[in-house]
Amino acid sequence: MTDTVKYVLDEEAIPKSWYNIIADLPEPPAPVIHPGTGQPIGPDDLAPLFPMALIGQEVSGEREIEIPDPVREIYRQWRPSPLHRARRLEAALDTPARIYYKYEGVSPAGSHKPNTAVAQAFFNKEDGTKRLSTETGAGQWGSALAFAGALFGLPVDVYMVKVSYQQKPYRRALMETYGARCVASPSEETNCGRAILESDPDSTGSLGIAISEAVEVAATNDDTKYSLGSVLNHVLLHQTVIGQEAITQFGLADDYPDIVVGCAGGGSNFAGCAFPFIGEMLRGGNKAQFIAAEPASCPTMTEGRYAYDFGDTGKLTPLVKMHTLGSSFVPPGIHAGGLRYHGMSPLVSQLVASGHIEPRAYGQLECFDAAVQFARAEGIVPAPESSHAVRAVFKAAEACKAEGKSKAILFNLSGHGHFDMQAYTEYFAGNLVDQPFDAAKMDAALAEVPEVAAE
Ligand SMILES: *Cc1c(COP(=O)(O)O)cnc(C)c1O
Repeated sequence: MTDTVKYVLDEEAIPKSWYNIIADLPEPPAPVIHPGTGQPIGPDDLAPLFPMALIGQEVSGEREIEIPDPVREIYRQWRPSPLHRARRLEAALDTPARIYYKYEGVSPAGSHKPNTAVAQAFFNKEDGTKRLSTETGAGQWGSALAFAGALFGLPVDVYMVKVSYQQKPYRRALMETYGARCVASPSEETNCGRAILESDPDSTGSLGIAISEAVEVAATNDDTKYSLGSVLNHVLLHQTVIGQEAITQFGLADDYPDIVVGCAGGGSNFAGCAFPFIGEMLRGGNKAQFIAAEPASCPTMTEGRYAYDFGDTGKLTPLVKMHTLGSSFVPPGIHAGGLRYHGMSPLVSQLVASGHIEPRAYGQLECFDAAVQFARAEGIVPAPESSHAVRAVFKAAEACKAEGKSKAILFNLSGHGHFDMQAYTEYFAGNLVDQPFDAAKMDAALAEVPEVAAE
């Protein structure tokens, strides 16, 4: 008998509902605050930006939220995604650990992001939205929403962080292939973009800036709504198909993870994989350790402050309580563009603060090093973002070896790196450096964080 290396489920095993961790949290989430009034916001405050169905999901306390049939129908193209047992990697690392990975690179856009892009496009279409505006870092989210927009006949405007626009021209080509319009951010198209360019004509851009541009476009155009690829409760909710499927697949494997790992930029793929497992633990079931991996040059959870802050650089969004480096902090231009965000999902932040999730920070060189070893053992080239999870898994597997313990480690391989090969080329050429974290810049940005009474 050969050892199993892949756990595949039938289409019927695609979850019928998304899992909402708010129902199981020990403490209710901190309210979202209106920056003008200092009071909690209501659904009407968000109505210019999002359709009501998504606003309802954002504030829902229901444990299960039904996945509409047309969304499940589209999920069938790539879901359930496979769970792999990384036996060759285990052998290469000579570790007693049992390493599993859930592979989200099988989606058309190559990452987990279509899980929410399809849902968001569906609810917008239902609500009569005529156009979507959004931001993208490395281009993964922009291409996911462009794909979803194409399926529902919704035009999509994507503000792409300038450094990534230059580093990843094929991502832009992919968005345009799906029919989206892609603009380098900061751009001349918005007040916010023009203001940044005036003070810093060479700005490399950041997710915080690109979000401001996309929000401004939606707020000032009646027929346009805004779509966010991470951070918000409803985005994390849509990603929970990952962890729910993984729980079923671990049943097939007759195993259960001792450690669950994911990379975290805004927290959506990590939460999508981990929250269904954390939910089991919070309801008194199986326990595990949860590790969220972030870049050492943008160390939101490990170095940032847990405080109310804006989600964007232009200070257009409501205030959310999260780990933050300060909304004006512009992270260095590392290749894991999807992890270059000053904040973190409020739900992930709350669980970091309560000790349920352990954050770890890694430099980009050690991450690429781990990703290359992973590719040579398993054949899949991880996205630079995902390489942070791979690095964390290597650390955990090394610890198992040192302790002589066989633990089961699950990580979410959030996407493939086929559009990021320039980053690998530079890594092999020795051109990549570990961009140091500038604590003084963070302190300056944190000095601007507003005082909020609700804290
Ligand atoms: C966008 C992206 C991330 C980071 O976003 P999260 O919301 O933290 O998941 C990670 N991996 C890949 C492949 C991405 O495209």
